[in-house]
Amino acid sequence: MSYTFAKSQALFARAQLSIAAGVNSGIRKMEAPVPLYFTHGSGPQIWDVDGNHYIDFKLGQGALLFGHAPSGMADAIAAQARLGTHWAGQSELEVEVAERVQSMIPSAELVRFNNSATEVVGAAFRLARAHTGRPLILRFEGHYHGWMDEGLVGFANPADRWGDDEHPARTHPSKGVIPAVLEQFVVARWNDAAHVRRLVDEFKGQIAAIIFEPALCNTCCIEPVAGLMATIRELCDRDGMLMISDETITGFRFGAACAQGYYGYRPDLTILGKAIGGGTPFAALAGTKAAMAKILSGEVVHAGTLNGNPLCLAASKWCLDQIIGLGSDHPARVIKLGRRLMAGLAGLAREQGIPLHPQGPGLIFHTVMLKPGAVEGPVMDYRDYVRRHDAPRWAHLRRCLLEEGVSSIERGLWSISLEHGDAEIDEALNRASLALKRHAATWKTAV
Ligand code: PMP
Repeated sequence: MSYTFAKSQALFARAQLSIAAGVNSGIRKMEAPVPLYFTHGSGPQIWDVDGNHYIDFKLGQGALLFGHAPSGMADAIAAQARLGTHWAGQSELEVEVAERVQSMIPSAELVRFNNSATEVVGAAFRLARAHTGRPLILRFEGHYHGWMDEGLVGFANPADRWGDDEHPARTHPSKGVIPAVLEQFVVARWNDAAHVRRLVDEFKGQIAAIIFEPALCNTCCIEPVAGLMATIRELCDRDGMLMISDETITGFRFGAACAQGYYGYRPDLTILGKAIGGGTPFAALAGTKAAMAKILSGEVVHAGTLNGNPLCLAASKWCLDQIIGLGSDHPARVIKLGRRLMAGLAGLAREQGIPLHPQGPGLIFHTVMLKPGAVEGPVMDYRDYVRRHDAPRWAHLRRCLLEEGVSSIERGLWSISLEHGDAEIDEALNRASLALKRHAATWKTAV
């Protein structure tokens, strides 16, 4: 098949004359050979301006749990648009959505809505500091919590500035960050409960909250080891810290009760984004009454002109009703499909001698490409990933996959939507087989 992208190339050249660097989110420049321009999508499929058709596992950076352009959601948004697009005031719809979230997630005793998860993370940190009167947030290397100053401290520490294993560095990938922000964080390694315990003891009385992605989807889809969530809960209870579950990616994807239901823990605060809005700009902070108290009292400011926007609420209500309607079929069905895709990709790669190892719970997974000589076995944390994952080789394969019409997130994350079925998994594997063969024939290992 091997797609070409002349129209996307031309649009990208034109865009650079009016849009800074041609894209509206820096990460979109990672798409090779060119950032793609899309015309339409339908369920698990998407088409670009060159007429190329993709089986889509990128799904709008994971937001499209319900696939592209679900007609029920389009109708709900259109009906609301005719009544009004924005109130900056109250509507019954916002109560209906809040009640649904409350009924699905046991720890969500109260909610507040925003337009992006980045904003919600900022609100959660502010709330935690006000709740405890303490300055520090403990977070983990490789975990992403939005793009603002506070969200990225220690996210992607460069290997030459890691710091020792016990005290990971507090680097920030952006220039222009308020320097004092870096000092408000303690950075830990993921999946080492004893190490987290030691750091909490070292900074005793100064940590307001521990935040994490329950399954580390932003780095290699690394699930928590047994006991990690229980340790974090125990330490938070012991020292009066808030446990913040960033479920921007995992929320509703891992089931109606999100990853906290799937792995069995109860956080104080939860960040919801992506799937809750089905691709509209919608996000929520959910929490226990105790953790949300400073918002109730007004001591913590939480605001936003477009919060509780009726178009997003109409979409969200439709999305949440789909999940509620699926009952115990979700996430079982997406797990089964995803595991079949993982096994199929691993088998095809093996046939070609390509060291590709999908890892994750199935409904979402990451394709690890091992470096020459790297040991096999699950990747356990950010440093392990940097040491063993062959990013240039994965980028080469990812481009081959894209040129055969299989789309995953650039760094190697694949999500299954509720619209994928066995036919799409079969088709994706047929296409992937061509891509893997071409990759094997054209990839040259640097000697
Ligand atoms: N937290 C996590 C875990 C995320 O993956 C993201 C986005 N990828 C965010 C927060 C920020 O979400 P948004 O881009 O909607 O602000």
